[in-house]
Amino acid sequence: MSSIAIIGGGWAGIACAVELADAGRAVTLYESAKQLGGRARGVDWNGIRIDNGQHLMIGAYGATLRLLRRLGTAHLLERRPLQLRVPGFRLALPRLPAPLHLASGLLLARGLSLAEKWTAARFMQALKAIHYRLPEDLPASSLLRRHRQPPALIAKLWAPICIAALNTPVETASAQVFCNVLRDSLAGSRADSDLLMNRADLGSLVGDAALAQLGPRIKLGEKVTGIARSASGFHLAGPEQVVKQVVLAVHPGRLPTLLADLPEMADIGKAVAGFTWQPILTLWLRFATPPAFPFPMLGLGDGHAPWAFERNDLAPGLVAIVMSADGPHIRLPAERLRDDYLDLLARAVGVLPALLDWKIITEKRATWSCTPSLPRPDNRTPVPGLYLAGDYTATMDTTDAYPATLEGAVRSGVKCAHLILAATPNSTFNPQHA
Ligand SMILES: Cc1cc2nc3c(=O)[nH]c(=O)nc-3n(C[C@H](O)[C@H](O)[C@H](O)COP(=O)(O)OP(=O)(O)OC[C@H]3O[C@@H](n4cnc5c(N)ncnc54)[C@H](O)[C@@H]3O)c2cc1C
Repeated sequence: MSSIAIIGGGWAGIACAVELADAGRAVTLYESAKQLGGRARGVDWNGIRIDNGQHLMIGAYGATLRLLRRLGTAHLLERRPLQLRVPGFRLALPRLPAPLHLASGLLLARGLSLAEKWTAARFMQALKAIHYRLPEDLPASSLLRRHRQPPALIAKLWAPICIAALNTPVETASAQVFCNVLRDSLAGSRADSDLLMNRADLGSLVGDAALAQLGPRIKLGEKVTGIARSASGFHLAGPEQVVKQVVLAVHPGRLPTLLADLPEMADIGKAVAGFTWQPILTLWLRFATPPAFPFPMLGLGDGHAPWAFERNDLAPGLVAIVMSADGPHIRLPAERLRDDYLDLLARAVGVLPALLDWKIITEKRATWSCTPSLPRPDNRTPVPGLYLAGDYTATMDTTDAYPATLEGAVRSGVKCAHLILAATPNSTFNPQHA
């Protein structure tokens, strides 16, 4: 009998499995799909492997970096000092120690008036003075208005950061989580604000490496259909296994069904059933030759506009255009969307080479809407031995909470592993996994 079951092989489940296996615990990870990675995975497309959706990481993703180093794939990330390039606006943080990098970056930013730069700097100073902790959560747009941020500054700077990081429009996004993101991306150390771009598909980054290293402890194509208490722990319907501890690391939308036989979990199931979802759409474009990107990541417009990424690492001439959150674009015919985005891209990089192929991938429930005071469940549950891992859990206190991100998922998985190790410290150590 495996003593610990992890249900779900996204980055949260994988991080948990690696941590527990390294501590010598008997762990089995059940993943319903034929591959690992969940919402951050590789997808085969006409002979190349692309990402299910374009992702971006930042230097502050400490737990993610630690996982990639452990898996031996951290070299697949390209690190660059932060640059936000949007038509009519450019912010570049120079290689200076914090907070000089932000101060000089703002001072030298293009496309903002001196008054706007001063207003933005004053806002960051005000947040720093309260340690980025708001007395109460509210929509990010209300916070920005309270701090007298002019609409043009919001459209050029704050709204694009909010939508990209929280996948939730500034009007409905949690101001507290927005503050947490600003603290870690703009106001942290210079290295924290660096952009980390994957230079291999997401599957190669985590899923493949985890599969190779954890081997038979990973069961692909094994869906768990229910969890019930048994005399010696939990019975998992589907694999028909009995285990002592369970880490439920599935998409939060799947929780209510899986928790149906555990009455103590009813409140958590109900809270999560109240979440709403945001899509992310990625348009993949394959050109005959690489378009001339002045920087690998380019904003294509103000506010809620797509971002283009040069992805020559996957195939020469490959470009990903990613559009966060819900909006009219989701309902446009595919050809119309492609043509609109090709126009925007041409405005940013000049004449485009011949287009060979294209594909749109829409993840309808890419993330939960990161709204104010969302009731996020703890990793520990009212059922002893049952833990929750995933980007939606309250892994840290509210004033550290992350939006739905890879870092949030990995931290959550690691935290569950540590809770299990602390709860059962005397398990036999297996030197094979040291
Ligand atoms: C298109 C897109 C773009 C994104 N961009 C970014 C970005 O730029 N930066 C960033 O940090 N984050 C980004 N995110 C968010 C990030 O991908 C997620 O926050 C993260 O991957 C969530 O990981 P997770 O392990 O919590 O959940 P998931 O990835 O959802 O993993 C859950 C796993 O559980 C499995 N499963 C479900 N039910 C069962 C069952 N019954 N039995 C067994 N297995 C089951 C699923 O198949 C899945 O593999 C993006 C997400 C998407 C979709």
